[in-house]
Parts: sequence; structure tokens; C-alpha cells
Amino acid sequence: MNSSKTYQLNHIAQIVGGTLIGDDDFQIDRLSIDSRTLVLASKTLFFALVGERHNGHDYIQDLYDKGIRAFVVSENINQGLFGDCNFIVVTDTLNALQKLCAHHRKNFTYPVIAITGSNGKTIVKEWLYQVLNPHYRIVRSPKSYNSQVGVPISVWQMNLEDEFAIFEAGISKPCEMDKLETIIQATGGIFTHLGSAHLENFDDTKSLLDEKLKLFASCEWIVYCSDDIRVSDAIKERYAHQKVLLNWSRNTDSKLQIISEKLDKGKIELKAVYNGEEKTILLPFIDKASIENAINCWLTFLHLGLSDEHIYKGFCDLEAVAMRLEIKEGQNNCLLINDYYNSDLGSLSIALDLMNQQGKERKKTVILSDIFQSGFEPRDLYEQVSELLTLNEIDKIVGIGDNIASQAKNFQCESVFYSTTEIFLNTLDPNGFKNEIILIRGARDFRFERISSALQYKAHRTILEVNLTAMVHNLNYFRSLLQPNTKLMVMVKAFSYGSGSTEIANLLQYHHVDYLAVAIADEGVDLRTNGISTPIVVMNPELHSFETMIDYNLEPEIYCLSVLKSFESILKRSGLKNYPIHLKLDTGMFRMGFVDHELDELINYLKVNPYFHIRSVFSHLAGSDEEIHDDYTESQIAKFEDWSKQIRTAFAYEIDRHILNTSGIERFPNAQFEMVRLGIGLYGVSATKQNMLMNVSSLKTTISQIKWVEKDQTVGYSRKGKLNKKSRIGIIPIGYADGFNRKLSNGVGQVLVNGNLVSVVGNVCMDMCMIDLTDIEAEEGDSVIIFGDDYSLSRIAEKLDTIPYEILTTVSRRVKRIYFQE
Ligand SMILES: *Cc1c(COP(=O)(O)O)cnc(C)c1O
Repeated sequence: MNSSKTYQLNHIAQIVGGTLIGDDDFQIDRLSIDSRTLVLASKTLFFALVGERHNGHDYIQDLYDKGIRAFVVSENINQGLFGDCNFIVVTDTLNALQKLCAHHRKNFTYPVIAITGSNGKTIVKEWLYQVLNPHYRIVRSPKSYNSQVGVPISVWQMNLEDEFAIFEAGISKPCEMDKLETIIQATGGIFTHLGSAHLENFDDTKSLLDEKLKLFASCEWIVYCSDDIRVSDAIKERYAHQKVLLNWSRNTDSKLQIISEKLDKGKIELKAVYNGEEKTILLPFIDKASIENAINCWLTFLHLGLSDEHIYKGFCDLEAVAMRLEIKEGQNNCLLINDYYNSDLGSLSIALDLMNQQGKERKKTVILSDIFQSGFEPRDLYEQVSELLTLNEIDKIVGIGDNIASQAKNFQCESVFYSTTEIFLNTLDPNGFKNEIILIRGARDFRFERISSALQYKAHRTILEVNLTAMVHNLNYFRSLLQPNTKLMVMVKAFSYGSGSTEIANLLQYHHVDYLAVAIADEGVDLRTNGISTPIVVMNPELHSFETMIDYNLEPEIYCLSVLKSFESILKRSGLKNYPIHLKLDTGMFRMGFVDHELDELINYLKVNPYFHIRSVFSHLAGSDEEIHDDYTESQIAKFEDWSKQIRTAFAYEIDRHILNTSGIERFPNAQFEMVRLGIGLYGVSATKQNMLMNVSSLKTTISQIKWVEKDQTVGYSRKGKLNKKSRIGIIPIGYADGFNRKLSNGVGQVLVNGNLVSVVGNVCMDMCMIDLTDIEAEEGDSVIIFGDDYSLSRIAEKLDTIPYEILTTVSRRVKRIYFQE
């Protein structure tokens, strides 16, 4: 086992300034901060971090049961419950984690590059890695681990065997960078780009910039673009006298002076002057951000003394960075998680985590390549991989590569090995995989994308991409608006507002939401049969579905006495008592629900009735998103408070109350009662603070065909698309049957092609429509965005005179949903 990471607890207590209660000599070599991530228990030190909504201390019992015996805590723990356990008691557990990793950093003298900036940190880090990798043994941040927690975890990965470290650091608030700087202690720095993210937490751009630049305090050199005068001035002001400033520019005199940029067939040739010599690179990416990221890397390589040939070849071979884990439907009811281009041990557990989140009820298979440059001997390395697989209850491993194959005996689960991807593909029978969740994860050279396409369900070219990371961001945003004890019900009705059913429910269950709500019983059955155990409310219970609801433990909304009585007769037959129900009050929506004069009868009926248990009483707001209705909303809330009190006082047990939907949560924080119901906000739409949310869904397709059509011809049905000049027409495979509304015909609708908005020509057909590409550059096969990050759902909704809810829920089921995590 690697010695540089083995620490004794008494030493750690000393480093973090804590008090050790337990065994001085107890040794650990791993850290964990997430109770859900499984790690080799016996050698793990768990830091019980305290967040706004999560408290690691709540999971100590759980982790103890899994075998963890060493904890860093800041709250009182009843140690009597944990006999052979070791605790380091500190005042702040995050601070302790940071101190330990800052201490760990001091063991190493090799160069450490730190990257910060508003965008491009991960890409620059990965590209540096891609080009430097053949020459150095490199340790780097897994994925985008760049936060107050991510940075220490990244730095903890440093080993004596490494020769180079590359870490990214990101901040969102004042006073955060000092801490990251102390942990990373960089010898070289790169500033990628200054944008406006997180500006709301700072006085102005200068303060944001100053905070970021603190990262470079210990650097010998800094790479940056001097064309942004704000960045250039701030760096000079702070560091001109102490450091080597390496700037690049397109305009002014600089260390790396860009003199030409020539586009050619999807590539760009850049020429520049460095130390009086002309240099050239050819870059396989042509978008503005990629070019800037690449120049930052270029200047870094030149400064590190890489040869011109090495640099030139490195850029030619540069590959897109797989920033995300993708979930796709495979053949034979398999689910594929694509994580190719990542093979390091550090991020394996992130992928296994997603597998656990989504893989209930399925066999779990991992297809894994050799892992390069881990800093471990093969035996140690694959022993660790095997432990991780065992802890995550993986059923089968398919190992590809000679190294992993040589360690075959290390794996406890069902296993099979191949020396190359070709051999695996040649013998592959896609029917050999059934009802499995399959993680496909390999180093770049193994080109595992070929495996994925062999196992994949051949999808229609029109897809709805669902960004799970964005969804979690939105969930956390709404949680941050709640009181600490307020419960959260999330609406997953209508196929989770069009974004999918089990995938979304799995994610929400994993993030411990208190309730899920569906519209009809069948939606709830679907969730239960796919392993969802979170309580589920059915908003529109229908008489014929009562037995099903009982069978699947679904809790009905009760909105009138006759429904209550029918349900009771079925409960009587089943012999069940105290069945959970949710009472709906109509305080002003005038839809379903009890009104005030019915309450006495309802209460009297339920009071002497053994069959029901009232879990909650709730109501729904008719206009919580609009200020003009605020008086009305307040009156609904007042009625609700009054009516629900009558019910609650009549029963001896606790009954939760809830009335707020998304815009209610945002606008009426005093009416949270015991629970709130989040809907559209989770999916990225806000009535008041759109910029706090991330877009979740993107509807995309590709151009099938392009043709020139002469002036005065007409395009499509009923000859509506009359051309007033010779036009270049693109055909895209999306029509009204996919949810592309026919009212978008004849120029009303627009779509985004290569960054340009283009108009729909003629009538939208059932399965396709035509767009005008005359004025833009586009080719067959190019991607088309119907709505997404850069063309919002709300804009289409406005054109159609409707609301985003309708746009989302009418994307038809034949459009495949593809999920990804960034
Ligand atoms: C759909 C629904 C919600 C969620 O509304 P949003 O505006 O999407 O947040 C809440 N409560 C009830 C009863 C609903 O039907």
C-alpha cells in the first residue's frame, strides 16, 4: 500500500488541532466525506461535514455499521454507542479536512499548477494532462473537483511517485480562495477567463477578480490573456514585482503574440511569436472558448520547455473533454453509463455512485480498461478497484487490457477479461447483456465509445437531453430557501414534467426528498416497480385504481367525502387500518378540495374512523407567481391556516400542512408550514429568479438533408412556404408528433443551428419540418437545438402564447431522453 498516505490518528489530531478520543496508533489511508460513497471501511477516516441541508453527523451510525471506525466530528457523539470507534473532535470539520490536506501537500516538491477563472478550468486541466501525460506521471483533480471540499480531496491524491500535479480551484464567495491557496501551494498558475458567474456575491468585478488571484500567491509564474485589461491590470498590480508574468495577446505586445488564425476544414491554424521565434499549432476545435483555452495551454507548454514537435503533435491529437457521465438506453432493457476517457481511480467512485443511484433492481456490470498512471503498483491498484466494486455490490466486471487481465484473481465478482477492445468487440454478443446497468469506463486509447455504440439502443436522432447536475443544482437552490425542518415534496407527475420517470425519481430519492407526487396511480406503480421507496402521493386517485394504490403503497389525495367512502370500503375488504391519506382543501383555486362548510362533517367522519391516518392537509395557490394576485394569495394562505387548524386540533397526532408550489416557495417564505411542493423550479423555470437556476432540458435534433430550392417554389404541405429568393433548405426530423407544435410553421418558430437562429419554412409536418439555412454555414449532420441552454424554453412558450409547462410536457414519448451528469 502506498506509504505516503498512511497517517496515524494521533498525528492527524495534531495536524488539525483536534482532540483524539480513541486509539493513538490507529492508521488510515483514505478520506471520505460523503456517507453515500462507499469506501474501504477499515482504513477510512470519515469527516462529518456540516452543510446547509446535510449533516454528516447524521450518518455516523450508518457508517459504523458499514465498518468505519475513524471519524472527525464537531458535534457531541454518544461514544458509548460506538465501542471500538475513534473520534477526533474539532470545532469545524471542513476546516480540519483542509488543514490535513494542506499538510499532506507539503510532502511533495514536484511542480503544482493551479488553474482558476470563470470558465474553462476543467478543459484546460484536462488538455494540459493530455499533452503532458506521455512525459510525466501526473496527479490531477478528478472531474471538476474545485470547491472548498473538492480541492482538499484532489490534493489528498498526491503520491510520492507522481512528478507533476494539476489542480483547479473555483470560488463563489469572498474569503474562499485563501483557503484553497494554502492547500494547493501552486508553483505555477493559469488564469483562464473572467466572466460574471458569482458576481452577485461580490461588491464588483474587481473584488471577484482579486479574490480569484489570491490563488497565485506562491506561484513562480502566471499565464493569462492580457487582452482583458481588467485581468491584466489586476495581475500586474498584485504580482508584477514578484513573479514571471506570462501573457498572451492578439493585440498588444506580449510574451506569446498571436499573429494569425486561419480556419481550414474544421481546424484552425494559429501562428504566434514567442521569444522572437515563430511558432505554429493546428487545433481541432474552432470555437472561441476552445481557442482561448488552447492558447493558455500553449503558453504553459512553451514555458515548461516542451519541444515544438511535442506541442504540435499534442494539439493535433487533442480530444474533446468528456465532462459528463451519460446515461443512455441500451438494448435488452439495459441502461448504459458512458464514462469513457476517464480511467483514474479517483473518479471511479463518482461513476459507481451514479450506478447505485440509477441501478436498483438491475444486475450491475462494469466494463473497465487498464488504469494508467495511478501511482500504485498493479497489485495494489486492482486490489483497490476490486474493493470498490465489492463495496458497491457490482455483480460482474469485464476487464479490457493486459494489466487488468493480469490481476484477474484479485476480483471477487463474476469476471471476464480481454486483452484489447477489438477482441472484446469481435466476440461481443449484445444479447449477452440483459436487464443490466452497465458502466463503460476506459482510458482514451481503448476507445470505449465503440462498445457503447454496439450496446446502445439505436435512438431516433431527435433527443431530449436531461442534465442531472443542473437538476441537483436547482433542487439545492430551492432547499436553500427553506427553513431547516421544512419537508420537501417534489412533483414528478406527467413523466416528471416530460423529463423522465424513474431516472428523476432515483435522483430525488438519492437526495433524500421527503415525498414524491404523481398525478395518477399508474405513474406511482411505475416508480414502485422500479425500486423507488420514497413515499408517493397520488393527486388524482380514480376509483378503479384504489386496490392498485394499496398494493403499491401509494397515498391518495382525498378531495371529497364520496372518494373517502369508496376508498374506505376497499380498505375494509383488505383488512388494513390507519392508511395514510392527504386531505385537499379548496381555498380559492376552485378545482378539487373540501371547502369550509364541509370541514365539520369531514372531521366527525374521520375522528371515529380506524381506517385512515391523515398524513397531511394541503391546498393549492391559484396565482402565486404574479404580484397582482398577492392579496388573493395571502387570503388563500389565511384560509388555509384557519381551516387546517380546525382539522389538526381534532386529532391527537401530527398532521403536516403544505400550500406552496415553486413560485410560492420563492415568493411567500412565511407560508412554508411543515412542507412545500416543488414542481417546475426543479426543471429549471422560475417566476422570479431565473438566473439562480440552471437549464435542465434540451431538445435537439440533427439536419437530415440540405437542398437548394429555386425562387418562387414552395416548401411543404399546402404550398405555404413560398420562397421569395433561391434558398438553402434544411430538413430536420422533428414534427408535431414529437412535440414541435404546428403553430410554429411559416416563420413563427425558430431553431438554433451552429449558434445562429434560423426560421421554420412552410408548415410543420408530422415527423419533420424544414428550416431556412440560406444565410448561415451549416452541413448535413449538424446539430439543431429546438430549446436548451442557449435558446430558452420560455422563448418558445412565448411564441406559442403558452407556458413552459406545456412545452416540456408535450415533448412526445418517442423522443428518447438522454441523461447526463457533469
Ligand atoms: C403541479 C402541482 C404543484 C407544482 O406546481 P409548480 O408550479 O410546478 O411548482 C404543486 N401542487 C400541486 C397540487 C400540483 O398539482
